Parts: sequence; C-alpha cells; structure tokens
Amino acid sequence: MAKVAINLATGAIQQDELIVGIDLGTTNSLVAYVHPETRQPAAINDLGRGAIVPSVVHFPVDGSSPLIGTEAKDFLLSDPANTIYSVKRLLGKSYRDLGQHAGQLGYKVIDDDSERLVKVRVGERFYSPIELSADILRELRQRAEHALKTPVRRAVITVPAYFNDSQRQATRDAGRLAGLEVLRIVNEPTAAALAYGIGLDPAEEKTVAVYDLGGGTFDISILRLHQGIFEVLSTHGDTWLGGDDMDRAIGEHWVTQAALPPSFRLVPGQRQQLRLAAEMAKRYLSQHDDFTTQLVDGEENVFAVTLTKAEFNGLIAPLVARTIDACRLALSDAKLTTDGQPATAKIDAVLLVGGSTRVPLVYDEVSKFFDQPANRSLDPDEVVALGAAIQADILAGNRRDVLLLDVTPLTLGIETLGGLLDAIIPRNSKIPTKAGRQYTTSVDGQVNLKIGVYQGERDLVSENRKLGEFVLSGIPAMPAGLPKIDVNFFLNADGILRVEAVELRSDTRQQVEIKPQYGLTDEQVEQMLLDSLTNARQDVAARLLIEARTAAEQLLYQVGRFLKKNAAHLEETEVNATNEQADQLRQALAGNDRDLLLKHMDELDELTRPFAERVMNLSIKQAMSGKQIS
Ligand code: AMP
Repeated sequence: MAKVAINLATGAIQQDELIVGIDLGTTNSLVAYVHPETRQPAAINDLGRGAIVPSVVHFPVDGSSPLIGTEAKDFLLSDPANTIYSVKRLLGKSYRDLGQHAGQLGYKVIDDDSERLVKVRVGERFYSPIELSADILRELRQRAEHALKTPVRRAVITVPAYFNDSQRQATRDAGRLAGLEVLRIVNEPTAAALAYGIGLDPAEEKTVAVYDLGGGTFDISILRLHQGIFEVLSTHGDTWLGGDDMDRAIGEHWVTQAALPPSFRLVPGQRQQLRLAAEMAKRYLSQHDDFTTQLVDGEENVFAVTLTKAEFNGLIAPLVARTIDACRLALSDAKLTTDGQPATAKIDAVLLVGGSTRVPLVYDEVSKFFDQPANRSLDPDEVVALGAAIQADILAGNRRDVLLLDVTPLTLGIETLGGLLDAIIPRNSKIPTKAGRQYTTSVDGQVNLKIGVYQGERDLVSENRKLGEFVLSGIPAMPAGLPKIDVNFFLNADGILRVEAVELRSDTRQQVEIKPQYGLTDEQVEQMLLDSLTNARQDVAARLLIEARTAAEQLLYQVGRFLKKNAAHLEETEVNATNEQADQLRQALAGNDRDLLLKHMDELDELTRPFAERVMNLSIKQAMSGKQIS
C-alpha cells in the first residue's frame, strides 16, 4: 500500500514519505536524509544551528517544557541535577546492570527495585531512559520536519552492534514514543560502512574494520561484505571508554599537579567547569601544541592551567592502548590471524567513527596497528547518521535491495534437564535467523513443559542470563518420551527474539516474544565470554556430572516403573536385589562422584537387563499367541 503525504510548506501531495536516518548517540545525536534529487545523504542542519544535537535534556526549575541539545548542555554547569546526559547508557538497563557507574553521573538514578529498569529522578518526577531518549528523538524529528518542510513519521535508528535485545527494544520504544515508526534498528558500524559506500555493490568483497571512539564509549567491529551480504564478524569494546575519559585524565592531571585545588574535584559546579575546560584543551590540542586557560573557584580565585600536546599524549596513551588491545581481540574473534598474530593485511579498509578519532594520537595508533592509513574522509560525527539515511533510502525502495546481516553477540538457548543450557542459536550467528530443536517429556503423563530461555556462553543456565520463561500447556497425557516438542527460535533483523513451541502429535502451540526485563551491559557480555573460556574445563566436568545424574534419575524412574508394572513376572529375590542396587545408586546421587554414579548405573543396568529381556519375551509371546505367521 502506497503512503501519501502532504507537504505542508508547498501544499503538494508527496507520494513517498521521507524516511530519515537517526544516530542516537551517547554524547551527540543527529538526523540525516537522502536528498531526493541529488540522491546524496546529508545531515539535517535546521536553522543553521549545526547538525549535531547534544544528547542532553534539561528540565527547567520553573516546570516549563524541557530543553534539548545545545540549550540544555549549558545547564550541565549551572544545574547538573536537572540536566540529563549520557542517557543511552541507561537504555534497557537495570540499576544492577549499571553497578558502580551509577554514581558517576551528575544526576540521580533511582534504584526502586534492582531487577527493574532504571529511572532518572528530576525534582519530584521520575523519568525512564526511554522517555528521555524519546525527548531527544522528538527534537531531531521536529528539526527534520522544520528543515525539510515535510512530516517525518518513519525512521531508521542506529544502535551499537553489541546492544542486546532489551536495549534494542528500548530504542524502538523511544522512537515510538517520539511519534516515529522505527522501520529498522541498524548496527552503527554497518551504517558507517554504508556511508563509505561499502555494501552498495553486490559484486564487491571486502573486510572492513570500524573503529568508533565517541564521548563515552568505544567499539571496534569487523565487517565482511560478501555477495551483497553484510556480516558483522566480530565486535569488541568498552562501554565506559571514550573522550570523557580523556577529559577526566586532563582534569585529574591539573588537580594532582596542584595547578587546581581539590574543590574542583568535589564541588559539582566546579567539577563541571573542570570537565568543560579539559574538553576544550583536548579539542584545541588536536590542532595546536600548547593550551592555556583560567578557571575560577567559588571565591572568585583565578587559576591558570596549561597542557602541552606531549603531556596530553602521555595522559591518554593507556586509554588508546586499551582500544588497540580490543582491535587485536576483534581480529582474532573474526579469525583474522596468521600464526596467532593479527592479520591486518586481510583488512581492506579501516573506517573512523566518533568525535574522539579526531585526536591525532588515536589516528596514528589505529593506522599503525592496522598497518594502513585509517579512513577519515567523512566527518566522524556524521558518518553513522549518513549511513542510517542510506539504509532508510534502501528501505524506502529507492535503491536495489541490499541485504544486511548482523550477528548475535551471545548464544541463545533453553534450559534442559539438570539445569544445562542447550544452545539453539550460537553466538555470532547471522541474523535474521531461525533455528530449532526437538524435545520430549521426561515423566509419564506430563501435560506441561516449562521453557526457560537463556542468553550466554556457559554450560549451566544458572551462570547465564535468563531472558524469559513460558509454559507449553495442554500436551495430551502420553508416556514419557513420546511427545514431540519442536522449539523454534526466530531472531529478527533487529535482534529481537521470538520463541515458539509446538507439540507435533497434538498440534498444541505456544509462542512468546522475549522482551527481557533488563539488559546486559557490554562489560557483562565481555565478562560472560571471558568466563566461558576460563571456566571451560570446570564447565565440562559440571556438565558431565549433571548428565550422569540426569541419566541416573531416568534409570531409577524406569526401573521403578518396570518393577511396578511387572511385579507378577518377577521373583521376590529379583525385586529385592533390584531395590538394593537402586538404593545404592540413590545414595551415589546424593554425592558428586561421577565415577561412582556410572558404576552403580552399570550395575543396576546389568542386574535388571535379564529380567527386562525375560518380561519382553513373555509379552511378545503373548502378543503372538494365536497369530499365524505366514
Ligand atoms: P561522539 O560521541 O561521537 O559525538 O563524540 C564526541 C566526543 O568527541 C567528545 O568526547 C568530544 O570531546 C570529542 N571530540 C569532538 N571533537 C574533537 C576534536 N576536535 N578533538 C578531540 N576530541 C573531539
């Protein structure tokens, strides 16, 4: 169905409603579109105010409507408690997810229940990060409508490649709240590559590294373009590393060098002043060698501070080194190594994203590591939004279809007997994807099956993150092992999971969209991956023990059932011997000795096998009696 829109400025009817691309960033956001005539992507710069809208929301004390962007940023200094920045960090997260970082923000984050999503307190009111992000998106939408003189209802919004379900869902919800139909959530590195024109020619085969160092976050993604398909091979990073850390390092340097009194660390207004001066120094030193400015404390004392480029490079060298370590890991995750060393020759292009890549040391170190000059021909602040606009244009049907595939950062699976994770969609699978597996019941007459959905790399579900749970009910009563239950996972292009279970014999169905209560931080994702490696051996032992236990329980159950059903055909001595052996197995079940369990299982099996064979022969004989074999 074609949509029709009216251009309010000209009164003309437009056939194709514009779809914009939005980079909803931690520090800055912007909106871009593809110009209908030039077919070129461009950032929208309404009223010459600049395309970049700082991702800051200020709530005036008089209760009037919130200020967004540059106007709001001014209040970071004078009214930090009512001025919210970095809200992207809170999207889709619980207070527990934030951990020690909650205290680092200048405003109050409310912990009403550690399992629930965080809220921000401003005066007497509480705001969810979704509402605050929606405020920013609404501002971007209005600017786009004002500048383009056309209604904007549909958008593509970018998110970091490592964003989990909950964070993607929250981004989508924020868009909806801002009156936007979010057609697609696109990974930021994928958007950056599109902006550089990579991915538009299906014949092209390329491997690119996208290095994104923003104000507060860092990530590196390795993308592979193959037969018109975009795939994120790997992604690494640190959600608490960026330009802000450089500013903090400069501020710390000034205070510890005694150029400034400690009050600049302690008093909120002075702390913000220090932060802004440090940022100014950093930006200045991208082009000059020496920086000087003055700061004023509460008693009007003036302090002069200086910083040379060499000092600055010394301060940030450890931060830059951490990003290079992540690049090394990303290459090895993407299997781009030769003899264990990063094979940078296999990278066709290195793209720089984020304002902090303007720092000369960053450019130099990244180029050195990848052994080629990094590409910074596009504005690193605009590149993601430009790519989002191109994706929007593709979705609008204005370009030949380009299929974009991403990967899921963590394994998705369900809990099986003994608390083990059964992987259904392995980590790094391309999305959209669908995968399934067949299960059955473990108890006679079982009519319900609880399906617990988990995300993580460990063998035991208790070590992974639970995403949700649902019950397949109404399975007709059947002996254990007879029902055939298909569990299917559908992961859509936005990375949102739907799980469906169906009992095939009766066609009993149940499906749920998994919307986790809270998300994982990037650090948790990394930690989970790391844990899965360091604990691999322990996990194998635990898994083997659990499997042995489960098998022992099943054996005891079957033996019990056998004794009950066939009492008439068994000698009393046989029954007693079996019970004795079963008791020994039960005792072994109380301990953790897998070998002992296996030994008693073997013994019980050995003991009962001849009885079972005898009974089986008997029943075959009965079944055959009176029947002629021709
Ligand atoms: P983003 O999150 O991508 O908007 O990046 C914003 C970050 O880039 C902030 O930390 C800025 O201080 C930093 N930044 C912007 N311009 C420059 C520059 N010329 N030199 C150094 N850092 C910059």
